[in-house]
Amino acid sequence: ARKFFVGGNFKMNPGSLEAKKAIVNVLNKADVDPNTEVVISPPALYLIPLVDFLRKDFSVSAQNCHEKLSGAFTGEISPTQLADAGVPWVILGHSERRTLFGENEKGEVRSIVAAKTKAALDAGLKVILCVGEKEEQREAGKTDEVVRSQLEPVFEVLKGDDAAWSKIVIAYEPVWAIGTGKVASPKDAQETHAATRKFLAERVSPAVAESTRIIYGGSVSAKNCKELSTQPDIDGFLVGGASLKPEFVDIINSKR
Ligand code: 13P
Repeated sequence: ARKFFVGGNFKMNPGSLEAKKAIVNVLNKADVDPNTEVVISPPALYLIPLVDFLRKDFSVSAQNCHEKLSGAFTGEISPTQLADAGVPWVILGHSERRTLFGENEKGEVRSIVAAKTKAALDAGLKVILCVGEKEEQREAGKTDEVVRSQLEPVFEVLKGDDAAWSKIVIAYEPVWAIGTGKVASPKDAQETHAATRKFLAERVSPAVAESTRIIYGGSVSAKNCKELSTQPDIDGFLVGGASLKPEFVDIINSKR
């Protein structure tokens, strides 16, 4: 069975280190379902202090990394250095990176997200790989096609290395649902998760499709998480806004 996975993406939200620790402290004291894997993703500067401060059964994730392990790339974060700093996870291909920072928005032949995924795995990191369609793409009936086209370069770059998929969690985050309060219906989310699992079965293997966690992100809250979590192909959540609030504990416990 796939272990339920809940990630909290703090994004670049404001607040001091002390404010971040206050949020983490709520998690540190919470009574949580031991059958759920929990990862929090603070802004990069706070990763190192929070590695120490966070309870040991939870882990931290970076929100991005560079596609090279080292070199003259001013301002970038190396996957190797994340691993060295005790950071086990990285979020890659978030829609904010794709749309605001030009990561494969225009369907370039060379996929930045796939290159980063390969580099992160080579450095020993685990990857939360985000995919998802925009509103006009959903309206045009292109959701599955968009998700497939975002995954395709990763299938390609990891070809022959099925074991790599044990280090990847796919986050389906429809762009129109992110930060809008417009959550996907359990039925719509389930359909896309099932289609995504089918792509994995076809392009990687049925075993990888069966074992890879596919989590949902986009306006997840304490109110809507329970019903979403009952869908057979929804293996957890990637939570933005609500991960900064005490209700994140209820989302972690949505299967209870
Ligand atoms: P919200 O939960 O704020 O909609 O953000 C989702 C998200 O982008 C998580 O990566």
